[in-house]
Amino acid sequence: MRTLNTDPFKQRLLQQREALQTQLERLRGGAVGRAQASAEHFGGPKEDSRAQQETERELEFTLDTRESIELDAIEAALQRIAAGTYGVCSDCGADIPAARLQAAPETPRCIRCQTALEHSRRA
Ligand SMILES: [Zn+2]
Repeated sequence: MRTLNTDPFKQRLLQQREALQTQLERLRGGAVGRAQASAEHFGGPKEDSRAQQETERELEFTLDTRESIELDAIEAALQRIAAGTYGVCSDCGADIPAARLQAAPETPRCIRCQTALEHSRRA
């Protein structure tokens, strides 16, 4: 097992967690908050047609779900840092390359296992 300095990753995960929590609060925080959040996501205010409102509702749901999943992944990564297992693939136990952790600090898997998982989900 290698020695990995987890401090920079922890800092980034904590920052990401805070940003996501703020975003989720706004997504869930009533009509005004949701309108602001979706305007930020999709660039500018929208016309108030019914079809667009429907679409926005669906998008909000999707965003909310995606951000919740991401938040869970970040929480799990922080727990792995606390447990001393951070940077080790949860599937095969290999060290996850530092470059991959820098690109996606919340990732629990090496590229090989992640790719395999995505293929199996699609099938
Ligand atoms: Zn792996």
